[in-house]
Formats: sequence, structure tokens, C-alpha cells
Amino acid sequence: TLSDRLADTFKNLRGKGRLSEADIDATAREIRIALLEADVALPVVKEFVGAVKERARSEEVSGALNPAQQIIKIVHEELVTILGGETRRLRYAKSGPTVIMLAGLQGAGKTTLAAKLALWLKEQDKTPMLVAADLQRPNAVQQLQVNGERVGVPVFAPEPGNAQGIEHGGDPVDVARRSIEEARRKLHDVVIIDTAGRLGVDETLMQQAADIRDAVQPDEVLFVVDAMIGQDAVTTARAFLDGVGYDGVVLTKLDGDARGGAALSIRSLTGKPVMFASSGEKMTDFDLFHPDRMASRILDMGDMLTLIEQAEKAFDSEQSLKAAEKLATKGGFTLEDFLQQMMQIRKLGSMTKIMGMLPGMGQFRDQLENFDEREIDRIQAIIQSMTPAERDNPKIIDGSRRARIAKGSGRQVSDVNQLVDRFFEARKMMEQMARGGGVPGMPGMPG
Ligand code: GDP
Ligand code: MG
Repeated sequence: TLSDRLADTFKNLRGKGRLSEADIDATAREIRIALLEADVALPVVKEFVGAVKERARSEEVSGALNPAQQIIKIVHEELVTILGGETRRLRYAKSGPTVIMLAGLQGAGKTTLAAKLALWLKEQDKTPMLVAADLQRPNAVQQLQVNGERVGVPVFAPEPGNAQGIEHGGDPVDVARRSIEEARRKLHDVVIIDTAGRLGVDETLMQQAADIRDAVQPDEVLFVVDAMIGQDAVTTARAFLDGVGYDGVVLTKLDGDARGGAALSIRSLTGKPVMFASSGEKMTDFDLFHPDRMASRILDMGDMLTLIEQAEKAFDSEQSLKAAEKLATKGGFTLEDFLQQMMQIRKLGSMTKIMGMLPGMGQFRDQLENFDEREIDRIQAIIQSMTPAERDNPKIIDGSRRARIAKGSGRQVSDVNQLVDRFFEARKMMEQMARGGGVPGMPGMPG
């Protein structure tokens, strides 16, 4: 994954004030590969990587994050920005029914989406109506009717068999126009118009969609696109922008394994926001589009970003480094401090498994996997069996004191020995850390 590769890139980099040009170039290469793997269009990748490089150059190396994490954070933030920051909401008509028209290739998921959107609107106390304006494909009307029934939303459709040799009969432009009148009459506040699409971009159907658009003057035209078609999404998005025009994009089939690069490409190249995400066969597999989630998906590192956030919160690194320095120069890192640290590690206890995934934490992975919370209870018991003087100055803990401490804490003398050894080791690490480098907050990690 990108995080592994970035971690490798930065293996030898720690405590520098700024990322070097060589580090930035190496990083840019990895990001480029990751985005191409996610099916982001090449021109978009280039522009994006350029922006990230720019920012990486100007930013101080963070105290809280290692360089790999920091770059990932920048990449993620830039992705979220490009994907639209906050989700754009539907614009409702000021008076009369809000008209939403769907456009897109055949198989993109329009008919399915129409019903999902209707259900979603219904749950927000709207009274939507579905309109079957795909009179092209056999069974298209019936499919919408079945879906409409599933979500309990009425479907406006032409009566079967009324001429013109088209499978279901009727003119889609006329159906769309009449549907608006029907919606007014029956007081539906939202009208969702499903339209026909071909497997490829097709002039006639594009014109038909444009005619429907002109006839009903939709408040929103939504371009529906299958996330699985990858790079082709860009061509299609452009063709529909020229042929019909649209206000927003809906990405479908996000339950598949597509990484969603199409979202980034379409957003960058058309400037149109992705508004909704469709992710399955169930009518409830539908949600507003969340740029931050999509950014994580494109980067393919779900938990990593949560971790970065937590890492930033959990250790205010600069402060802990300062504290370490103070402790080390005073030579005053005591068993009491050691215990405090252990307790802090316990607070992060639930994180221990995923901690192993942090770049730079790989070296601790084994310890973390074997990390036993009860170990901290034992350490606590032993330290609490010591006198304040012993805790302040562990050097005085001789054989007879060790025996007493072991008895007091219900442990073996060997456990006490081990703890004291570990403490001195931790102190050494604190001193090293104060001199620069090292992983803050981790000394004394059991293992
Ligand atoms: P249309 O031609 O644009 O109207 O597309 P349809 O709504 O008929 O969908 C085409 C196929 O894709 C159907 O088999 C749908 O069940 C399926 N489909 C639609 N949306 C999704 C989705 O979000 N996830 C998955 N897995 N399948 C979907
Ligand atoms: Mg359809």
C-alpha cells in the first residue's frame, strides 16, 4: 500500500527540519503510482502531485508525525479539498415541485438510483414521484415500477401500447412534461426523471436527454456514472457535460472494488461536484457523497488516517520531547514517571493493534501484537509496592528491597529485577530521544 511504500521511502529520515527535495521527489513518485492505481486520469494525477509537492516543500516537518504520515496527511487534505470539501446539498425549487433529472450511460445505475434517491427523500419527509422517461429499453418502465413499489413511491409512466412503435409507447419528452403537471396536481414536492442511456455515448439519445431537459427545466440534472468503469468515466463525463450538461454527479457501484479515482478525475476535469454515492443492490445502499471517505478510499488506507489524527492528539510530540529533555538532563526520570508512561500507553491500549500499522512503528509490531494489558497491572503493582524514595532513586533498590517489593506486590523477585532493568533501559531511551530521533511516548514498551 501507499503507506508501506512511503514508510520505506522515509526509513532513514527523522528529525529533519524540512523534507529534502529528494525525499519529496521520491514521495511524489509513490503518490503518482497510488493515484494511477486508483484509476485517476493522468492529467489530474500530474496536477495533483504538483500541488502536493508544492505544499510539502513549504511545510515544516511536524513534531507529531513522521514524514510519511505527514505526507499522507497533506495528500489526504488536498484530495478532500479537490473532491469538494463539504458535501454539496440538493437545491430545492422555491415553489412547485423540485425537478431532478438523471442522465448517464445504460447500466450506470440510473433506474436503481432513482428509487434509492426517492426513498432517501421520503425519509426526509418529501413526497417524491418517479418518472419513467426511458422508453427505449425493453422493460425499463417496468423496472422503475418495480423499484418504485419497493420504496413505496408512485411512478408516472405512459400507458402501455399507445403507438409510435416504441416498446412501451409514447414520447419521453412528452412523458416528462406531463409528469410535472401530474406532480403539481398530486402535490408531489420532488420529481425524479429517469432517462434512457446507451452503452456508449450516442448522439440521438444525448439529444433526447437535452430535449427532456429543455422541456422540464430541471432544478438539478444529475450525471450518474459507474465507478467501476475507471478511466472511461472521464470521457463519458465530458460527453454528457457537452451534450446535456449537469449540476452534480452520482457515483454508483462503490460496493465494487473500484478505488474511486473516477470521483477525483470527474471533479477536477468538469468542476462538477459529486453529490451522492450509491453502493449496492439494496435500496438503502445510498448516501450523500463524503469527500473525506472517498479520499481515504482513493489512498486505500482507511485506518491510517484515523491513526494520524489520533497520533497527533495522543502525543503532542514537541512537548513530550521537551519533557524528555528535561528529565534526561536532570537525570530525573523516575519509576514514578515510568509508571505514568505505562498508564498512558494503556490509554492507547485499544490502539495497540493498529499502532503496528503506523509507518515507523513497524519495529514495534511484534511487541505490540504480543502486548498484554495485564502486564501494566503487574508493573503498577510492583511500583506501588516501592517506597517513594525507591521510586525517586531506583539505584538504591538492592537485593533485600527487591525481596520486600516482590512480596508486597505478590510477584517473583525475578519480575522485580526485570522491571528495574526495563526501567533503566527506558531511561536510556529517553536520553537518546532527548538528543533527537526516536519514537516519543514509546519507551518501556513491554516485550
Ligand atoms: P441504468 O441502465 O442506468 O438505469 O442502470 P440500472 O439501474 O438498470 O442498473 C444496472 C445494473 O447495475 C443493475 O443490475 C443494478 O442492479 C446494478 N446496480 C445499480 N446500482 C448499483 C450499485 O450501487 N451497486 C451494485 N453492485 N449494483 C448496482
Ligand atoms: Mg434504466
